[in-house]
Amino acid sequence: DLLAEVVSPGDLAIDLTAGRGQDTLALWRMVGEQGQVIAFDVQQDALMQTLQRLSAGGATVRLVDQASQPLTDQPGVDLIHCCHSRYADIVINTPTAIIANLGYLPGGNQQMITRSETTLAALDQALAGLAVGGRIAVVVYPGHDGGGEEAMCVERFFSALDSSNYDVLQVQLPNRIQAPGLLVAEKRTEIRRR
Ligand code: SAH
Repeated sequence: DLLAEVVSPGDLAIDLTAGRGQDTLALWRMVGEQGQVIAFDVQQDALMQTLQRLSAGGATVRLVDQASQPLTDQPGVDLIHCCHSRYADIVINTPTAIIANLGYLPGGNQQMITRSETTLAALDQALAGLAVGGRIAVVVYPGHDGGGEEAMCVERFFSALDSSNYDVLQVQLPNRIQAPGLLVAEKRTEIRRR
């Protein structure tokens, strides 16, 4: 819902972790037939589940294996079989919404988790590319092995964002420390990088 508030039909939206495709589908519904969604995943199995879900939902889906060049601007959904830390090689346009639902593929291999180093690399590039007025939402899962460390890194990343450039929101259940947490940032102004 927090992403839907800032997305208009025809926009570009990014899913950094396609998984079973629920978020990819939600984003595609927000951008509509004229919009574009680019979704990353390192597991072919996840991309196949996402492909099925999106095709059943009526989307035009393109599978892109190990993309080596930036994607063109085209309505529909592009499923990218590569690590989200290659974001800037592939996404050159400015999305209004970006989501990352971290952890492991539900029902899949629980060893194939997102890891803080590549997660932070992806978030850094994704934030740089986000449209002014756009939002990025990250769901962290402190409950599994390695998830606590990753959640802490992501929280630090959001805490360090300059408040003159970003509004940041965190949703947490203080009496259930293992429960998933949500971090959202909205870009207020264009940031010049040195
Ligand atoms: N949003 C999904 C759930 C995501 S689960 C849904 O709605 O169903 C997390 C996904 O991240 C898994 O499918 C896993 O394969 C993927 N993943 C793990 N490391 C990754 C990386 N470095 N780059 C891209 N995807 C990654």
